[in-house]
Amino acid sequence: MNRLAATDIKYLKGMGDARAKLFASELDIHTFRDLLYTFPFRYVDRSRFFMISELTDDMPLVQIRGRFVRFSVEGEGAKTRLVGLFTDGRGMMEIVWFARIKQIKAMYSTGVEYVVFGRPSFYRGAFSMAHPEVDRFDPAKPPQGLRGVYTLTEKMRGKQITARTFNTLLTNLLEHEKVRGMQETLPEETVKALNLMPLREAIYNMHFPTSHAALKAARERMKFEELFYVEMHILRYARERGEKISGIPFPRIGRAFNDFYSKVLPFPLTGAQKRVLHEIRDDMGSGRQMNRLLQGDVGCGKTLVAFMSMLMAVDNGYQACMMAPTEILATQHFENLKEWGDRIGVSVRLLTGSTGTAARREIHAGLADGSINILVGTHALIEDTVGFSRLGLAVIDEQHRFGVEQRARMWKKNSVAPHVLVMTATPIPRTLAMTVYGDLEVSVIDELPPGRKPVDTLLRYEEQRQSVYSLVGRELRAGRQAYIVYPLIHENEKLSLKSLEEGYEKICDTFPSYEVCKVHGQMKPAEKDHQMDLFVSGRARIMVATTVIEVGVNVPNASVMIIENAERFGLSQLHQLRGRVGRGADKSFCILMSHPNIGKDTRKRLNIMTETTDGFLVSEADMKIRGPGDMEGTQQSGIAFNLRIADLARDGQIISLARDEARRVLDGNPRLLAFSRADAPPPPGGRQLSEQGLALVASEMRLRFAKTFDWSMIS
Ligand code: ADP
Ligand code: MG
Repeated sequence: MNRLAATDIKYLKGMGDARAKLFASELDIHTFRDLLYTFPFRYVDRSRFFMISELTDDMPLVQIRGRFVRFSVEGEGAKTRLVGLFTDGRGMMEIVWFARIKQIKAMYSTGVEYVVFGRPSFYRGAFSMAHPEVDRFDPAKPPQGLRGVYTLTEKMRGKQITARTFNTLLTNLLEHEKVRGMQETLPEETVKALNLMPLREAIYNMHFPTSHAALKAARERMKFEELFYVEMHILRYARERGEKISGIPFPRIGRAFNDFYSKVLPFPLTGAQKRVLHEIRDDMGSGRQMNRLLQGDVGCGKTLVAFMSMLMAVDNGYQACMMAPTEILATQHFENLKEWGDRIGVSVRLLTGSTGTAARREIHAGLADGSINILVGTHALIEDTVGFSRLGLAVIDEQHRFGVEQRARMWKKNSVAPHVLVMTATPIPRTLAMTVYGDLEVSVIDELPPGRKPVDTLLRYEEQRQSVYSLVGRELRAGRQAYIVYPLIHENEKLSLKSLEEGYEKICDTFPSYEVCKVHGQMKPAEKDHQMDLFVSGRARIMVATTVIEVGVNVPNASVMIIENAERFGLSQLHQLRGRVGRGADKSFCILMSHPNIGKDTRKRLNIMTETTDGFLVSEADMKIRGPGDMEGTQQSGIAFNLRIADLARDGQIISLARDEARRVLDGNPRLLAFSRADAPPPPGGRQLSEQGLALVASEMRLRFAKTFDWSMIS
């Protein structure tokens, strides 16, 4: 039983019922433990005093030592304020209060030496400070060192809960006997082996750091703790599933695979494709169910890897399916796979929402009697009436459009779960992938087929439009095709359509001798397909579109893309869009048209695009700018972690450390797994915990993942 987590915050000295309610509603702090784990979001250095002459207008909190020269009440009514003229002996500044004027005026006097601590602001040529903390200067007291700054809401401030209140409460908490006697939250063995700062010391230093070095060690320790339990949770879940769900073993590489490899494959596989195929083959041969995420930049050749994996299923007497997020994509995949399949006697069919009743019936029959080997389609594939006789592998293209639930529905198609391969071109940094897709193994194709020329990305503004159009004209005259992409404005469909329509008119006027097609999300599917077809077949040389083309369209002859209002797109979306060009052998261009008045972050984002074509770099930069919570995929991951202190984007090293340790602890302590096999020898390299360590881990897991942790096996 964790005593800190069970003790209501209202029992803390200085808290009381009213404040406790406020802490609960405003900051979600209910217990002693909650408050202990509420860390400062920043630290200020209070070991040094600033001079007024040193102040700049972008400073965080600073402290200044000096005296008040005089006080005056200025303004009227709601604008009444108390102004104290303050000097450090050389410079002057104003200290201003807008509330509690009478009390404050009575509290301080001129002539006494004070330390004021607050954020300086610069207004009309002079510095001032509003509502600082004011302390009498005491030469006998050593200067305070680093001090934490905590989140406070307006409502709390309104109830006179200040930074100082917070500090006092924390001081009281840290002095409480329950805190002084608090238990370590990591196994002793782990703390020792990794030389981590012990919990009590770390918690003290998080709130009242004794030095920069101690704070650093404390932060690392607390981050580690948080990530260790997340990784324990994920690994434990993955292992239990591995034990519980057996997979269909595919021991053979057979005729279909070999024929395709030797007779059909038009080019050598890249090294990365070979490596990933090996990984997939090992997975599917293991007798466990494969759950693999295949990441690879646009154009790296994931489809081919998927097809060859499906052939492994076929060679072992099973069927395979491939699910794509849109009808256009499904059709494109189908055309590719059918051409390959026809040449090696593997039957491939297409099922989408617009497949007619008769064809549908025929497909159902073919699936049931096993005459269809591979089925390609949209989410129509997971409709309940579709029954495979022997589904062995399900491939899902573009993970971020499918949630975990849909993945699970695919598994239910069989009594034995088929292998699952999820492909995504939205690269997610490995550390994030490990955590977000914790139940999936990750493969990466980190190599493009040879001969690809990196796309030239240019950032251009309105006044350069003519030169942009002349570049497009040059490509068109050389026989190539062009995309013009408009942002989809979610809040305002009408407006985005309007800009698309205007853009379309302008393009038609500028390039009168070429056919221009137009695609957007509001179109009827048949019309959209028709317009798409015009472009794919090459009859239309220019396509004006909203982001519907983002995913998957493959027209190698397209060599130039203009992205209008590029500042409105996210980085990974820009990268996806850019992947539509550069698919042929010739040089391609991606031109980002931007509004000239863009913020610093936006400019940074667009510059990243012009500097690199590496999707992983783009994605990493994106995550740093936006934070992992906004990344595509994290929403649907089904594992929403509320990390308090660790940062998935920046703490990659600690994540690996935590993952390795979690693996060691699970390996050394089979009792932590609900489904451990008693007869199986524990894997080598485990870290065996004492009884006490084991109990501790179990109780922490239970506390942190109460809903999902089955702790009955440890009692
Ligand atoms: P993505 O990973 O974006 O789905 P695709 O599978 O669509 O990429 O492949 C993009 C293009 O590259 C296709 O035209 C495909 O035929 C081609 N391709 C795939 N693998 C290779 C290879 N090893 N060598 C040359 N071209 C390849
Ligand atoms: Mg693809």
